[in-house]
Amino acid sequence: VSTTGKPDISREKSAELYAKAKTFFPGGVNSPVRAFKSVYGTPLFIKKGDGCRLWDADDNEFIDFCCSWGPLILGHNHPKVKDKVIEVMQNGMSFGAPTALENELAELILKNNKFIEKLRFVSSGTEAVMSAIRLARGYTKRDKILKFEGCYHGHSDSLLVKAGSGLVTFGETSSAGVPKSFADETIVIGLNDVDALNKAFADFKGQIAAIIIEPIPANNGLLLQSKEYLQTLRDVCTANGALLIFDEVISGFRVGFEGAAGHYQIKPDIITYGKIIGGGLPVGMYGASAEIMGHVSPDGGVYQAGTLSGNPVAMAAGIAQLTELLKSSFYKDLNNKTQEFVDAIQRFATARSYKFKVFSIGSIFWFAFTDKASISNADEIDPASMEKFKVMHRELINRGIYFGPSGYEVGFISSAHNKIDLEKTKRAIFDSLDLVFK
Ligand code: PLP
Repeated sequence: VSTTGKPDISREKSAELYAKAKTFFPGGVNSPVRAFKSVYGTPLFIKKGDGCRLWDADDNEFIDFCCSWGPLILGHNHPKVKDKVIEVMQNGMSFGAPTALENELAELILKNNKFIEKLRFVSSGTEAVMSAIRLARGYTKRDKILKFEGCYHGHSDSLLVKAGSGLVTFGETSSAGVPKSFADETIVIGLNDVDALNKAFADFKGQIAAIIIEPIPANNGLLLQSKEYLQTLRDVCTANGALLIFDEVISGFRVGFEGAAGHYQIKPDIITYGKIIGGGLPVGMYGASAEIMGHVSPDGGVYQAGTLSGNPVAMAAGIAQLTELLKSSFYKDLNNKTQEFVDAIQRFATARSYKFKVFSIGSIFWFAFTDKASISNADEIDPASMEKFKVMHRELINRGIYFGPSGYEVGFISSAHNKIDLEKTKRAIFDSLDLVFK
């Protein structure tokens, strides 16, 4: 029985599956956060998803705010996406040769995004970012890249690097197996810190190929940046002959069809997308001006390839999903719905003087156990506050509400979450907060 609120849900079948999975996979999972190390209990094994709902192996039902970590902006198993995938699958799964579907998805994106002229499809966000970095290095003929503490860009070697101590430092590897010499090519500074930015460009004059940033940093809490700061990054890149890369694997097609670039009206040199673009199947992409993309092979000397790149089934899911997003008022409705939801939660917490803030943008939100009015830098998050999230997560699971199993992760709302779902969720959140702060 839970120490605070409702009895714990039954996880018998999930626990059995997890025990077996541990004999197959390191930690029993195929991606570390799924192991539930930062929250109570063992991972829930999911059997089915439909709309905003999930069912686990024990037939527990949940309203889902993880949404597969972002891709499912239409919810699970959207009929238009499912039908299109089934239709395309009738003709085979993969050819390793061009198909009309690649043209169709590319046209849908490029016609509705003024920030890029050409693109290349890959199969994950990691691959998109890794390729974008190589392109920036190949284009500028420089080796160093500058990234920010608190941004995640997938698991490629150059980017599994964290800040050392000091204002501007060579990064330290954040994973075993990343050579120190790789980390030496990555400079890491804090977000929202113009002095560190200027110092980095002074210290490494003429050596920095690119700045890479999540323009809406959403992997270490939601560390919203000001438009002015993002514009400063743009200006510093232009002044120094470096490229600005927006990693929009989360924010792309999420805060609007044109992602963060459209939201802030700032033009990066290269953009990476993933998640939503594949409608739940594995797709990523990077795009830029025709001139920059002209450096990618076979047109140019920057090599990048993929057996399953532009996979027809994945393209089909992307086409069906992005077509829905282009319908009038899609984003307005989704964003308004999210705003009402987060406002109600904030009003509740504020009325009870709980040290709790909901930060949000578009249909992304993050629960922070803080009394700070804003948090724009990873250092401002108190690690001890994650203990409160842990209790909240358990109480929400026990009330049929599924959040990603870490307090550093954001939540997502999809078009499938309706008023009744959100009302039920609010009540569960209110009860859980009362227990966290009792
Ligand atoms: N970039 C960002 C901003 C991400 O959030 C992620 C994944 O969460 C990635 C890159 C890596 O994408 P993937 O997990 O598809 O490799």
